[in-house]
Amino acid sequence: EIEHYPSKLPHRVTTKGERVPARAETFVEMQKRFSIAGNVMRNLDGCGYSEPTAIQTVGIPILAEGRDLAAVSPTGTGKTLAYLLPIFARLKTPVSSQEDRPGVRAVIVAPTKELAGQIYNEAQKLAQGRKWRIVLFSKATAATLKDPSVRGKVDIIISTPMRLVASIQAGDIQLDRVQVLILDEADRLLDPEFASQVEEIVGCCSNPACQKAVFSATLPAKAEKTVLNMMNDPIRVVVGLKDT
Ligand code: ADP
Ligand code: MG
Repeated sequence: EIEHYPSKLPHRVTTKGERVPARAETFVEMQKRFSIAGNVMRNLDGCGYSEPTAIQTVGIPILAEGRDLAAVSPTGTGKTLAYLLPIFARLKTPVSSQEDRPGVRAVIVAPTKELAGQIYNEAQKLAQGRKWRIVLFSKATAATLKDPSVRGKVDIIISTPMRLVASIQAGDIQLDRVQVLILDEADRLLDPEFASQVEEIVGCCSNPACQKAVFSATLPAKAEKTVLNMMNDPIRVVVGLKDT
């Protein structure tokens, strides 16, 4: 068990790409720049998050400005919030409060049910106080999406590759209007076990404006090449502990 809080240790941050958005050193600066909703800010406070971690200072501005991102940062450095906060910022208001039926607006793919569940819990904490429609994909929740009135209005789906592909193949879900696609623990998602399913999911997020980002603790060169190939004008960020 690690006693220290890894994100508080000094970090070395490397970024590569064109026109990289400036870092934001505080959540208040992020709120000003990206008009993050007041209740999301309060929920951050409720989580006890007073200042962003290194990957959050760099990654949140990049994603909030709509850029594609391949981010590598060690385990325990707050990668989940680095993509969840920009999703809430970009979606702005819950689909339940809107007239139109945009289908699924954001998708997060994770390699295991356990990890998907943790991401869901984190998303729920940020969502508190507003009627965001966030779906943790399982057999049961996937079945509810057979109802067109349900699948017409989904803010965020969190799923393993297999579950999501099963619903796509059954025709229960369309991803052609997805605005944000996140692959978490991307190195594992590119393992032979998942690679073809992930490729299918990426292909189904066919909106040319769909933002894509991957997060991982490690990203071998071959995997990095694969993810950069599915992106548009991407930015790469690597966070390393200073003493490594
Ligand atoms: P990673 O995905 O990089 O392994 P997580 O997103 O699981 O890291 O976050 C690790 C822990 O740090 C979680 O318990 C999370 O709640 C906490 N955490 C994330 N961001 C912050 C922050 N800005 N301040 C304090 N704790 C944070
Ligand atoms: Mg993680």
